[in-house]
Amino acid sequence: MAEAEFTAAAFNRFLKEGKLMAARCRGCDSLALPPRSLCPNCHGSDMEWTPLKGTGRLAAFSCIAVGSTRMVQEGYDRTNLYCSAVVDLDEGVRVSAQLLGVEANRPETIRVGTPLKADYLDQDEEGKEAALAFRPQG
Ligand SMILES: [Zn+2]
Repeated sequence: MAEAEFTAAAFNRFLKEGKLMAARCRGCDSLALPPRSLCPNCHGSDMEWTPLKGTGRLAAFSCIAVGSTRMVQEGYDRTNLYCSAVVDLDEGVRVSAQLLGVEANRPETIRVGTPLKADYLDQDEEGKEAALAFRPQG
């Protein structure tokens, strides 16, 4: 079977299945996340999908009061902030995603370096795109 195209749509289909997938370069072993059909390191085009463990550490975050349409629909606003995180995955790539299981209204309680694991939102909801999020491990 041919590899699915390295698009956001394919990435989201994997999320729907509860999989965090990156594109890996067969030439130099670099990972591309979000996935791309060209290697970000050697610009080769021999890429394949590879599963990531979905674990990592919090690299940076911001707590957001005025969010995207999707987040407003999810009920986030000025009084109910959400936290957007940059996560250093164990495989050495970074990904940005929502951070759950923290007090977004009290950013002083959130610590860079916290071990995180991936969570998949709306995985079981028919007709809705899955979204990647992270939560503190343990
Ligand atoms: Zn490469």
